[in-house]
Amino acid sequence: MGTFLFDKIVFGPIKSRRLGNSLGINLLSTEHKVCNFDCIYCECGLSSKTIPVKEKFCRIELLFSELEKVLSSQREVEIDAITYAGNGEPTLHPAFLSIAKKVENLRDRYSPNSKIALLTNGTTINKPSVQQAFEHIDDILIKLDAGNDELIAEINKPLSHFGIDKLIAGLKQLKTRVKIQSMFLEGSADGKDISNTTKQNVDSWLNWVSQINPEEVYIYSIDRDTPISTLQPVGPDKLEQIAQKVRKLGIKTIVT
Ligand code: SF4
Repeated sequence: MGTFLFDKIVFGPIKSRRLGNSLGINLLSTEHKVCNFDCIYCECGLSSKTIPVKEKFCRIELLFSELEKVLSSQREVEIDAITYAGNGEPTLHPAFLSIAKKVENLRDRYSPNSKIALLTNGTTINKPSVQQAFEHIDDILIKLDAGNDELIAEINKPLSHFGIDKLIAGLKQLKTRVKIQSMFLEGSADGKDISNTTKQNVDSWLNWVSQINPEEVYIYSIDRDTPISTLQPVGPDKLEQIAQKVRKLGIKTIVT
């Protein structure tokens, strides 16, 4: 199946299911996906470990000039969110803290009603510079697709050690509440059946959601091409049943 890379540093605004009219910022290469996860459903395709460092990240001067140009020329356009997203994991950018401060500054100057949002896999959450950067971001949406490390290994395929305990330890150090976004899927991958919608897997995921106590949970399924064609989307009724379980914990939950 075909996958997709953003070919710009600043893209959109595009209609986002979770964020409204969203102006995207891609801090990664426009030629390669750069991520320390290799999610089996990733619309950017599979990850590679062999990208030279100098090709991995956007140049920050270029980012700031493009963002300023777009924001100053689109003052009439209602932008709900300026969102770090794009071709991989934004927080891997070595200058992420400086970027977060400057983007906040540009938002305040040109588009003060826009929120700044971040889509992250949470793997860098224990880094002090990333935690400081979070203070310059309004909505932090952290990926949590499973409630045990074995299933995370199968779905998200971290390229280096990552466990839920590490994520929870990092979350405890944050000053702000985060939002959780969770992809539910079924089918098979690597010749093995896979599903995070079984009762056991939903219960273990719910256990962590309850401990995290996020501001909001977004639940969704596959609706774009994935690099593995044997995955199947989960229907809206089943997603809604999962959402109901989260709402019973008193947490606002949206099926998108
Ligand atoms: S964390 Fe996001 S960018 Fe990285 S592999 Fe998963 S879906 Fe793709």
